[in-house]
Amino acid sequence: MLDGSLEGRVALVTGGTRGIGLATARALAEAGATVVLTGRDEAKAKEAAAAAGADSGLALDVTDAKAVSTLVRGVAKEHGKLDIVVANAGIMEDALLGMIREELVDTTLSTNVAGTLHTVQAAARAMMRKKTGAIVVLASIVGEHGSAGQTVYAASKAAVANIARSAAKELGRSGIRVNAVAPGVIDTDLTSGLTEDAKAENIGKTPLGRLGTPEDVANAIRFLVSDDASFITGQVLGIDGGLVL
Ligand code: NAD
Repeated sequence: MLDGSLEGRVALVTGGTRGIGLATARALAEAGATVVLTGRDEAKAKEAAAAAGADSGLALDVTDAKAVSTLVRGVAKEHGKLDIVVANAGIMEDALLGMIREELVDTTLSTNVAGTLHTVQAAARAMMRKKTGAIVVLASIVGEHGSAGQTVYAASKAAVANIARSAAKELGRSGIRVNAVAPGVIDTDLTSGLTEDAKAENIGKTPLGRLGTPEDVANAIRFLVSDDASFITGQVLGIDGGLVL
């Protein structure tokens, strides 16, 4: 019988110090996994790990390919394997087309696209030896549908969705599943800049009539990395209350 248990699994969550990453680390730990979470700041990562019931919190900037590779290899070595990786770290900054600065393009693409790619590459290398594993990346509803004022972010998240679709094709024969979640508007620090009017407008366009919570996304990720989802790969799962953009 399948019960969503992650007992005996080793999991890594990037950007786990707050929001969706923190809720995901907590959900995986509650399901029985040994969880390592990372954050850019070591002290914050350790604090978050304690709060989430995770095994440890480590410092990692996902834009640094070598650092990602070293950390993932180290986690797999210390725990003897790596079963689950959630490439959650990401940033969002809005800009209308005429206002897009080169620096915004660089930081967004290096964090959201290259950071996710580094994490998936390192995860695949670590999982390949045991020929089993589950990876989830964080796409977005705006990556699927586009959003005015969010061209750079939306482009980055479309790329993230296609990292999942492509990696799933490449890694399936090695027993590694790769999926993406595409959250709608989730109530976290990332969206704290939204005005009350903008929040109300989004809620109005959401059939389930509310913003999402980090736990809404974490629960879907917990399902996707569990054996309950053992025949699911290459999918981009909307976690958006039915929001129509
Ligand atoms: P958040 O800002 O609360 O958390 C993001 C985390 O990523 C933080 O811990 C941050 O420190 C970390 N991070 C950022 N850059 C990093 C880097 N270079 N290296 C390592 N860590 C880094 O955001 P959130 O709302 O929890 O979002 C988590 C993920 O979900 C992001 O990828 C985001 O794009 C995606 N997402 C969020 C929403 C939403 O509405 N909140 C919607 C769709 C997708």
